[in-house]
Amino acid sequence: MAYTKPTNYKERPIVIIGAGTLGMRIALMMATRDGEVRIYDPSSEQRSKANDFIQQQLPNLLARFPGRSKGHIVLFDDTCKAVENAWIIFEAIPEKLELKKKIFSDLDKFAPIDAILASNSSSFPSSQLIEQVSERGRTRVVNAHFYMPPIQNAVEIMSCGFTDQEVINTLMDTLPTYGGLVPFEVQKESIGFIFNRVWAAIKRECLEVVAEGISTPEDIDRIFMVNTGISMGPFREMDQIGLDVILEIEEYYATLNPSLPTGPRELLHKYIEKGKLGVKSGCGFYSYKT
Ligand code: NAD
Repeated sequence: MAYTKPTNYKERPIVIIGAGTLGMRIALMMATRDGEVRIYDPSSEQRSKANDFIQQQLPNLLARFPGRSKGHIVLFDDTCKAVENAWIIFEAIPEKLELKKKIFSDLDKFAPIDAILASNSSSFPSSQLIEQVSERGRTRVVNAHFYMPPIQNAVEIMSCGFTDQEVINTLMDTLPTYGGLVPFEVQKESIGFIFNRVWAAIKRECLEVVAEGISTPEDIDRIFMVNTGISMGPFREMDQIGLDVILEIEEYYATLNPSLPTGPRELLHKYIEKGKLGVKSGCGFYSYKT
């Protein structure tokens, strides 16, 4: 059965599965329009943390969209109940393949037949999540990869290989109506998305330039700011994300492409061995101790 956007989608709930760093932010964006936004997370602490975050952030965000009424957040501790009558479900659970395969299998069984099932995974193309999803269900599965809304509002949409093109068209048309999200269609399956692949290359070369002793993190950040007008250079940005996370990502890319230079990973190891993980440890390429 071909997909068509339900005519009553505005009256049906949007569901977020997993209310961590990204899940709570996706829910925030979805709450910038009238309607019900449901959050499911097995952790009650995480559910209330997400709710607090949204209630705190939403007024500022809504101020950018005069005349809009806010969405209604409802917290759930049961997946089946949470997905009842949903028109779209965003998965934002930890980056563990088996966990994600299981949740997509459950969503295929319990979500409405026409619900879009969107994964926020940063490294798994949705084609890797559908092993236990029915043939019919696969036409509704897609990657919808967010960054850090409401500051970074790009969303990358990528087919699982079976996704009905109308599912992608619906996301492209509809997401901009939620807090000004800006969707981009990834034209072909990719490990890593458009922006984070390009950003990975920039990070890698910056690290290599330091590893070769050609420049320093401070000077590279300064030259970036002078030449591009950005407010924060790549090394400060890496400190924000966490150098352990940056290393994990780089190691993953290196398993896919063994010819990548080793200098960036060696440099990151040196910092991490000294406990310099970035902002979260008080020191990385820069010191954040007061
Ligand atoms: P996180 O660890 O902050 O949050 C994960 C949440 O999922 C937690 O609240 C946890 O309680 C919950 N959870 C665990 N098992 C669950 C289950 N079976 N069902 C429902 N919820 C469950 O993780 P995160 O950083 O928000 O990442 C989530 C996803 O978003 C990952 O796939 C990641 O690749 C992707 N992502 C993360 C970022 C980022 O910067 N953190 C950016 C883009 C995409």
